[in-house]
Amino acid sequence: MPHKILVIEDESSISDIVRAYLEKEGFLVKIAEKAQEGLNYLKEGVDLIILDLMLPDMDGEEVCQAVREISDIPIIMLTAKSSEDDRVKGLSLGADDYVVKPFSPRELVARVKALLRRTGAFKKGTMSFNKGKLVINPDTMEVLKDGMPVKLTQTEFKLLHRLAERPGQVFPREQLISLILGYDYEGYDRTIDAHIKNLRHKIEDDPRAPKFIKTVYGVGYKFTGQRDED
Ligand code: CA
Repeated sequence: MPHKILVIEDESSISDIVRAYLEKEGFLVKIAEKAQEGLNYLKEGVDLIILDLMLPDMDGEEVCQAVREISDIPIIMLTAKSSEDDRVKGLSLGADDYVVKPFSPRELVARVKALLRRTGAFKKGTMSFNKGKLVINPDTMEVLKDGMPVKLTQTEFKLLHRLAERPGQVFPREQLISLILGYDYEGYDRTIDAHIKNLRHKIEDDPRAPKFIKTVYGVGYKFTGQRDED
């Protein structure tokens, strides 16, 4: 599922590599070259910060403190300093982890994943499919397509959620009708078809060649997305 990672780092040679490795793993990456720019991004909602200790406008330690005043979002500090003192200082300022430059991007990615897991940012209940292409959060009723929020009606969300909970299972139309109407109803096949059509337009790249919701002719529908591992 696409987590948003904010990288606050003024050296583009480093942030470019970090971005490439994180994006390859399906993360959404924002890069800020200055601390203030990075702090502004926080309002947009970020799941984890990779923070360079040496920045042009603010000390990474000050940034860390500024972040901690408003949020407990996980922070990994990047630094050239490697003495025990600096390490302890970074952690006491509220960083959750610490990576010393030069570092292996692969190790950094592993730390990002571990930290997200540890801090519970891998939200329970969230379902991600096809390497983060489609994300469904039943708690907030949010749906993301390619990381972008999709506006669904309540009925569309109900349908999608029910289908996606059991990939591969064929749902007869009548079952879906009773799901959205609350009881058995006859003659509403077209209603379901119309909802599915709208849903496909919102979540599929090509609604005429759907990857997520397939028609089972004469019966109903099934969800065919591949669930990502949590
Ligand atoms: Ca720097």
